Amino acid sequence: MSTAQNICILGATGSIGVSTLKVIEQHPERYRVFSMSGNRNIERLKSQILQFKPAHVALATPTNAADLNDWLSVQSIDCELHVGESGLAHIASLPEVDQVVSAIVGAAGLLPTLAAIQAAKRVLLANKESLVLAGNLMMDAAQASGATILPVDSEHNAIFQCLAETKDKAGLVEAGVERLILTASGGPFFETPLSELAEVTVEQACDHPCWSMGQKISIDSATMMNKGLEVIEAYWLFGLPVEQIEVVIHPQSIVHSMVAYQDGSVMAQLGLPDMMTPIGYCLAWPERLALDLPKMDFSQAMQLQFLPPDLSKFKNLALAFDALKQGGVMPATLNAANEVSVDRFMANEIGFLDIAEINAQVMAQTQVADITSLDDALNADARARALAEQIISQRVISA
Ligand code: NAD
Ligand code: MG
Repeated sequence: MSTAQNICILGATGSIGVSTLKVIEQHPERYRVFSMSGNRNIERLKSQILQFKPAHVALATPTNAADLNDWLSVQSIDCELHVGESGLAHIASLPEVDQVVSAIVGAAGLLPTLAAIQAAKRVLLANKESLVLAGNLMMDAAQASGATILPVDSEHNAIFQCLAETKDKAGLVEAGVERLILTASGGPFFETPLSELAEVTVEQACDHPCWSMGQKISIDSATMMNKGLEVIEAYWLFGLPVEQIEVVIHPQSIVHSMVAYQDGSVMAQLGLPDMMTPIGYCLAWPERLALDLPKMDFSQAMQLQFLPPDLSKFKNLALAFDALKQGGVMPATLNAANEVSVDRFMANEIGFLDIAEINAQVMAQTQVADITSLDDALNADARARALAEQIISQRVISA
């Protein structure tokens, strides 16, 4: 009988999904793809189904459901199709599933990730937006169900690795931790003067110097919103106050993040920028997998730099710190406004610097209030989206 663990991949067709499948492909004796989801890239989903033969598949939107169903029966593949948000939640909470990789992009990841947590799964979290949107609800749900959340995001995964000796202790401060230091590559515009940023194109913004990722996170990296979302993500995952979370620019993306201890020691995790490493670490934790991928070569000369971030140039990063300090609905508000403004930038309807400008306006027009229920979080998300749309349409009319 097979002893392989059953894996559910939410967002299998995306960048993280594909990297996860590459790790699983190298260890078929340990992991089996039991369920997976896709959205619009139906051809990639079909080829993944042919290769990995999941028992269940979910489509986020019903548009391609009939096509996929016909194809499954023509191919005589024994795979059950589920549709919509409830379908995503279903494939993540099936009793056979051991681990859920949460790799949907954006707020759309919240409900299926929450379903996996409530079903007490081990959740490998890449979808940072769900934590930004409803961090307190997700952490409370994990506490209530006993689910384990493991960070896939490379920075948080690095911190998790640097805390190896301390993470079983009740509080990080009691364990001697002073600060969490998130590294940021600075993105493609790290050296571009502010005066030239208004004119940059979507293509330039997506051309990340170190990482190959999905489009939304690539734009977020270029505006440094990604780092802002990661500061909020770190706050929820590790429970340190915002004052003890720091961001440092490290253009080479070799040091993935660090933990500074009260005795002056700083622990860092290094590696080439490839998401297979943090994904493999989470899948196997507390063990480690042998992975076939390019590795660090210290026989070649290399320089590592560290610089403070320029918050006046990358306003989204300052907004994220502010949202975290204000708390309540503010992180969800910033996240939702950002999803709308990034979408509009990708559609060439607004400029690059407008993204942070619109996000700031949405925050300024929002009152702080607590999030105590899922409805509160979803309402804050919906309200901020509507506000962002309204601000953008007024700008387009007056332009
Ligand atoms: P991507 O755009 O490449 O893939 C997104 C996936 O989400 C696809 O499978 C798509 O089908 C699915 N999806 C899109 N819209 C959906 C919707 N409305 N409902 C359900 N599913 C939907 O994105 P990615 O780069 O793989 O990023 C996924 C998540 O992981 C994001 O939250 C991102 O911030 C995070 N992350 C990514 C990286 C990376 O290197 N790519 C690193 C760290 C964290
Ligand atoms: Mg990251």
